[in-house]
Amino acid sequence: MRFCTVVNCMDGRVQLPVIKYLLKRFNVDFVDSITEAGPNLILSEQKDHVLVRSILEKLKISVENHNSVGVAIVGHYDCTKNTASKEEQIVHIQKAIQLLRQQYKNLEIIGLWVDENWEVQEIQGT
Ligand SMILES: [Zn+2]
Repeated sequence: MRFCTVVNCMDGRVQLPVIKYLLKRFNVDFVDSITEAGPNLILSEQKDHVLVRSILEKLKISVENHNSVGVAIVGHYDCTKNTASKEEQIVHIQKAIQLLRQQYKNLEIIGLWVDENWEVQEIQGT
C-alpha cells in the first residue's frame, strides 16, 4: 500500500477533487487527509501554535507509519477561513511548503490551488 498526505481545508467541496488529483499525481493507493479550516493560512502565519503542532503531529504519523511518498498543501477559491485573494493564498501555500520542507527535506512537497470550477491546479515554481 502506497500513501501520500494532504493538508487540506475542511471544506467538503475540495475533498474529492484533491484526493482524485493526488492519487494520480503521486501514484498512490490512499491519501491520508489532515484537515483544518484554511490550513495554508495557519501554516503560513504560524500564529496558532496549537493548530500548527496538531497538523505537524498528524503529518508525522502519516510519514513515519504510512511511509508517505509526498505531501500536498491546499488553498482554494471561496474559502471561509482564508478570505485572501488567489495570489495571496498562493503566497500562503508557498510559505507553508517552506515550513514543511524544513521538517522533511527528502519528501516531495507540492502546493495545490482549487479554482472556482473545483478543478485542481498544481502551483508551479515552488
Ligand atoms: Zn477553505
